[in-house]
Amino acid sequence: MSNVSEIFGTLVFNDHVMKERLPSETYKTLEKTIKEGKPLDLEVANVVAHVMKEWAIENGATHYSHWFQPLSGITSEKHDSFLTPVGDGTAIMTFSGKELIQGEPDASSFPNGGLRATFEARGYTAWDPTSQAFIKDEVLCIPTAFCSYTGEALDKKTPLLRSMRAIDTQAQRVLKFFGEDGHQVIATVGSEQEYFLISEKDYARRQDLMMTGRTLFGAPPSKGQELDEHYFGAIRPTVNEFMKELDDDLWKLGVTAKTKHNEVAPAQHELAPIFTNANRAVDENLLTMEKMRLDASHYGLTCLQHEKPFEGINGSGKHNNWSLSYDNVNLLDPGDDPIDNLRFLVFLACVIEAVDEYQELLRMSVASAGNDHRLGADEAPPAIVSIFLGDELGAIVEALINGDEYHSAEAISMDLGVAVLPQFLKDNTDRNRTSPFAFTGNKFEFRMPGAAVNLSDCNMILNTAVAKSLKDFADACEGLEGAEFEKAAIAYVRQLLADHQRIIFNGNGYSEEWEKEAEARGLANNRNTAEALPCFVSQKSIDLFEEFGILSESEVRSRYEVKLEKYTKLLNIEARVMIRMARRTYLPAISKYMRDIAETITSVKEAIPSSNMDEHEKLLARLVKGSNAVATRIRTLIEEHDAAEAITDHQQQAYAYADKVIPAMDALRAEVDALECIVENDYWPVPTYNDILFYN
Ligand code: ADP
Ligand code: MG
Repeated sequence: MSNVSEIFGTLVFNDHVMKERLPSETYKTLEKTIKEGKPLDLEVANVVAHVMKEWAIENGATHYSHWFQPLSGITSEKHDSFLTPVGDGTAIMTFSGKELIQGEPDASSFPNGGLRATFEARGYTAWDPTSQAFIKDEVLCIPTAFCSYTGEALDKKTPLLRSMRAIDTQAQRVLKFFGEDGHQVIATVGSEQEYFLISEKDYARRQDLMMTGRTLFGAPPSKGQELDEHYFGAIRPTVNEFMKELDDDLWKLGVTAKTKHNEVAPAQHELAPIFTNANRAVDENLLTMEKMRLDASHYGLTCLQHEKPFEGINGSGKHNNWSLSYDNVNLLDPGDDPIDNLRFLVFLACVIEAVDEYQELLRMSVASAGNDHRLGADEAPPAIVSIFLGDELGAIVEALINGDEYHSAEAISMDLGVAVLPQFLKDNTDRNRTSPFAFTGNKFEFRMPGAAVNLSDCNMILNTAVAKSLKDFADACEGLEGAEFEKAAIAYVRQLLADHQRIIFNGNGYSEEWEKEAEARGLANNRNTAEALPCFVSQKSIDLFEEFGILSESEVRSRYEVKLEKYTKLLNIEARVMIRMARRTYLPAISKYMRDIAETITSVKEAIPSSNMDEHEKLLARLVKGSNAVATRIRTLIEEHDAAEAITDHQQQAYAYADKVIPAMDALRAEVDALECIVENDYWPVPTYNDILFYN
């Protein structure tokens, strides 16, 4: 086992390394850039680049890469070596300030939603010093933002950074009223990543998994998760080895991998890091996902990060824990006496307002073909956004709204009745797993994001929406101080809570009654991606992003286009894979089994004409009927798919995929899955759920 503190961060050009290696003037200038967003001049960049290169080479790097996140959401990199020939047949290793701060990758093949014509193929990457450079596979990776020649954002990181600035500015204005100004306010995020590990051999035998990341066919396994034996269960030895290597790799990269455990579903696991600033948290999460996929292959395993790899088995989410803090002060920490903590109540009320006002945008930010299988099913929060506050905070909010006096229920101590055990203070925020947006003591946990999503979008929206609420508050209290401010602030908080009470729901989010009640409360319920996306280009959304300089109207529209396109393209692939598998994999296997049964019947009857072959005949009839149904449903799917493909309006096309193609896919699947249960195992051409989910 490795010594964690010895290896931690060894592959990261972190603050410690910078302080140690950079000339102190350079370090100070760079720190200003990082903290205050001051531009970095080329001379300083040259010094930083040189030191960075020396450090990277000492640690085995031969190449460098601008590491960025195009709108596909995954990371991209292009490796350039440090090599520079000097003309006499030898070479030296160089890296200039210009190469550090700016790159020019050919951008024509990244999704851009029509923002940039392909003839203007140049894109620019710009160093983001608020994240950290690191070494991965002998490449010095420099986190960068990616934009077009005209400065439009072509990536996920740029708007997130802009939103970090916006919330910092507005939160600082609010803190000024409390005499706590002059501190940079940071949105913090801790993301919990769920994933499946299955055997590489099974994976390789399933076209659907390889092409789409999920099983498009498959009858339920003989046992699912009903015994609750997997959750927090002992970890399989191979998986354990994998987790150890993963931890080591992540620690070296400065990712604070903290918690690992088995999840609810068989073969499902989770990894949670310690939170950090939202921007780095997203970078770290993407690195984590990449390392998971890579390290799994060292153990003959494949890591599935799709939101729903297996029908009827829990899907994978990525909980986004979010808070605001400066220095070591968490602004969502209620302290001992939340009712007396006005600052906490102001921030709380502003978050509540933001989530209510922009609930549809939040829902939109996690919409994808994959996540559609999760949200609204009985395992993940519904597609309706609501906030859980818990009993104590819920009671405080209610008292504030009604103008009642609040009597604290007091932290309830829990006596376990065994003297040697310590007395626990019962967590006042009883966990409610069904809520999409839950207050968990000193942060909010947004549970709608799926395992595959890039968390930039939801944090960008959360930051911006909360920045707006904070701005409105600061505007309203402008010029007030002391008792006058306090009075105005309490009145403001009361009003906000009363106006946005509808978003607060402490009950069971999985229940049918909630869906009805939510509708009565006027909460949005966008059931699938096609329904969820249009709000992105609504006037209200464009106004919000423009007000805070997060996204221009054309940037919003291009992003919407990219999301639509991704949705329909994915479903297009799924439909094609299904048709192909049904025709070329399943039907031939079923026919072969049918023929063998038919031959059995004929030959047995030939041998003993009086034999009773009723059961065989029934089975044969069932197989004939089933394979005919499969053939018919293939035809229907082809028709629906062709019709959807022919639609030119992208939004209408997305609706057609959601409303017509998906039901046709489901229908085809149902027929094949039903046959899986009656066709003899040896004939079945792909590994089943039983094979895939229960392995050693
Ligand atoms: P659970 O599984 O019960 O939701 P975990 O302990 O697995 O809880 O995950 C909690 C996550 O919340 C961790 O990633 C943790 O670092 C993160 N977190 C804790 N405090 C904050 C905070 N102030 N801001 C953002 N994230 C936080
Ligand atoms: Mg959680």
